[in-house]
Amino acid sequence: PKVTLLAGGGGGAKLAVGLAAVLEPGQLSVIGNVADDQEFHGLWVSPDIDTLTYSLAGLIDRNKGWGLANETSRTLQGLARLGADDWMYLGDQDFATHIYRTELRRQGVRPSAIAQTIARALGVSTNILLPSDDRMQTEVKTARGWLSFQEYFVREQCRPQVLELRIQGLEDARPTEEALAAIRDADLVILGPSNPLVSIGPILALPGIRAALEKTCATRIAVSPLIAGQTVKGPANSMLKAAGYSASNLGVADCYRGLIDSLVIDTGDSADVTALQARGLNTAVTQTLMCSDADKACLARELLALAGLEP
Ligand code: GDP
Ligand code: CA
Repeated sequence: PKVTLLAGGGGGAKLAVGLAAVLEPGQLSVIGNVADDQEFHGLWVSPDIDTLTYSLAGLIDRNKGWGLANETSRTLQGLARLGADDWMYLGDQDFATHIYRTELRRQGVRPSAIAQTIARALGVSTNILLPSDDRMQTEVKTARGWLSFQEYFVREQCRPQVLELRIQGLEDARPTEEALAAIRDADLVILGPSNPLVSIGPILALPGIRAALEKTCATRIAVSPLIAGQTVKGPANSMLKAAGYSASNLGVADCYRGLIDSLVIDTGDSADVTALQARGLNTAVTQTLMCSDADKACLARELLALAGLEP
């Protein structure tokens, strides 16, 4: 079967690893998030795409869930000594990715092609697709004004209350043909257990992506990133509230209204089933917390089964 996953860099990347383990090479496409991208030290950093790539390559730092394993930070120390900001952790080997990406961009290579080149070079057979080749960056409004997503997420560690979200550059951004085709031609489209507002939201905000999801013949399943109203990690629950949604599986369902056939929620949340079904959603209950690689593959297999597909 052809499976397309929409994913951020946390829960989404974990599910990508599970799907890659149960599908044949070439069957899986992952549309990542580029709205967390930002320039640091003159280099274009694309954290969610790199997390997907490093996860699928088996190179990820498993404890942190991002960055490369066995990193050192001499370059960042050198930059700090020169007076540069060092709040965005970038490891020495990771710097190579950003240098390489930035140079290819400077040469005019399409960002999507660069992502694919890096993935193949690191041994990833899954298609990692960019939702757009254009610059689009999430910004977070706090009491002290607008912050870039990384300023809010990394420098301020998600502490300031979120008042509003916006995507700088969205008006001029266009989806890639590859992302549109991956949604159109799939048997199964999965909205991963990622932040609905700042990971999946920017993908859906691109013109044509929602329409592609509405029109596709694929089964469309979302996996909730919330368990008992809490995130496994990150600010999705408080962001949902800030955006006027309930911080629960119901709020997640409301974000994806008209775009999904089924919502998968965690076993502990089975009390939500009735209310979700009342919204016309087919609801499946299973363990959605992915700790081990076995958990990831298990959830992937359940999603295929839910769509009536065999790996
Ligand atoms: P980010 O780019 O690091 O913000 O990553 P994502 O947007 O892909 O993922 C963040 C979301 O993943 C958070 O809302 C977490 O609650 C969710 N998450 C992380 N691990 C898991 C998991 O094992 N199961 C589920 N259901 N959600 C998870
Ligand atoms: Ca992210």
